[in-house]
Amino acid sequence: MLTNAPKGTKDVMPNQVYKWHFVEKAFAEICQKYGFKEVRTPIFEHTELFTRGVGDTTDIVEKQMYTFEDYAKRSITLKPEGTSPVVRAFVEHKQFAEVQPTKMYYDIPCFRYEKPQSGRLREFHQFGIEVFGTSSMMADAEVICLAYDFLNTLGIQDLELRINSIGCPKCRERHREALREFLKPKYDQLCDTCKGRYDKNPLRILDCKSELCQELGKGAPTMLEYLCDECKEAFEELQKDLTAMDVEFIVDPGIVRGLDYYTKTAFEFVSNKIGAQGTVCGGGRYDHLIEQLGGPSTPGVGFGLGIERLLLTMEANGIAIPEPDPVDVFIAVMGEPARMYGLSLIRKLRLEGIKAEMDLLSRNFKGQFKYADRIHAKYTVVIGDNELNEGKVAIKTMATSEQRVVSIESIIEELKK
Ligand code: ATP
Ligand code: MG
Repeated sequence: MLTNAPKGTKDVMPNQVYKWHFVEKAFAEICQKYGFKEVRTPIFEHTELFTRGVGDTTDIVEKQMYTFEDYAKRSITLKPEGTSPVVRAFVEHKQFAEVQPTKMYYDIPCFRYEKPQSGRLREFHQFGIEVFGTSSMMADAEVICLAYDFLNTLGIQDLELRINSIGCPKCRERHREALREFLKPKYDQLCDTCKGRYDKNPLRILDCKSELCQELGKGAPTMLEYLCDECKEAFEELQKDLTAMDVEFIVDPGIVRGLDYYTKTAFEFVSNKIGAQGTVCGGGRYDHLIEQLGGPSTPGVGFGLGIERLLLTMEANGIAIPEPDPVDVFIAVMGEPARMYGLSLIRKLRLEGIKAEMDLLSRNFKGQFKYADRIHAKYTVVIGDNELNEGKVAIKTMATSEQRVVSIESIIEELKK
């Protein structure tokens, strides 16, 4: 047990971490291009933030949160999602008093007690963005377009963008009635959780992970049939804006999303190459969340994008992430004066931005060459007593075994070439 990571968690080992660096950099770059600034919030929050924000009939709040009492008996929860904490910070720091909109992005771990399987972990990671302070569908289009461009930049071909509108509290009431009517004859077959949702929030039943509930929900009346004029217009506007930006999408009335706070726009990017957990990115609009969490009435829109699922999708699409360059230079030394000279040289090389390594295990000369090979050094600089006495060193190009002798003074210039 001691040498196994907890179920549903994964280490990212040094030989894999370059993939994470690659997507993290690409995401930060595109967010900045779109005018978003990074926000960093704590790993844990007061539990109430999520029960109120995410909604108490959601899977997350009902059965997935990592909640514990701290020593002062406060209820604390490891963040299961990114939006509520960012809203809390926005309100706490009175960002609503600044010029709007507020555009933020983040890169966070999330914690949910789920049944671990491919693409579903208990600790996973998300990229996310949020736009606060505007009801304009241009913001929704911008948020969707950012995800679209990000995924395209990475070269992912098989993703489908599906959009829907889940309306506002006004139109949702009529839809709820219709849903209850539809589900009434099937009530006894619903899972226990969904029986509880029937009265409180029947829309949640359509997002239940149980196969039977999914089956029972098929053919249910869709939200699109019940949109009020304002929501209908907004949804048409969004489609117009996406079309103007050349973003391809399909309207999928089946998209519900797993969090209660969404209003109007809901969307997903789905891959069909990574199995059942195919939703790589999901998001939408939440016009009442900020107010619900104690802030002034402020609309918002954003998405969460699972990094593990993103990497799975890239792999399934045969996209190879470039491995960073190996070591530029290995410095092989023999004898104490050579070692001293090597130390002074390695420091200078590193300050010049050259990736340099020396042996840290007191290997003999032959062992040092073997090691230089193993770590894929491009060049090896050879320094022995003779070389030092003559004021020269040898530079060996490892790929060709070709060797040149250069003066000690010119060595940095030579290597920089
Ligand atoms: P799903 O329907 O797959 O459970 P969700 O609706 O719960 O997803 P969100 O809460 O919207 O997902 O999270 C946004 C993204 O985070 C998802 O699209 C997915 O890529 C990723 N994600 C969510 N839960 C997990 C998990 N347990 N493990 C890995 N990635 C996850
Ligand atoms: Mg989920």
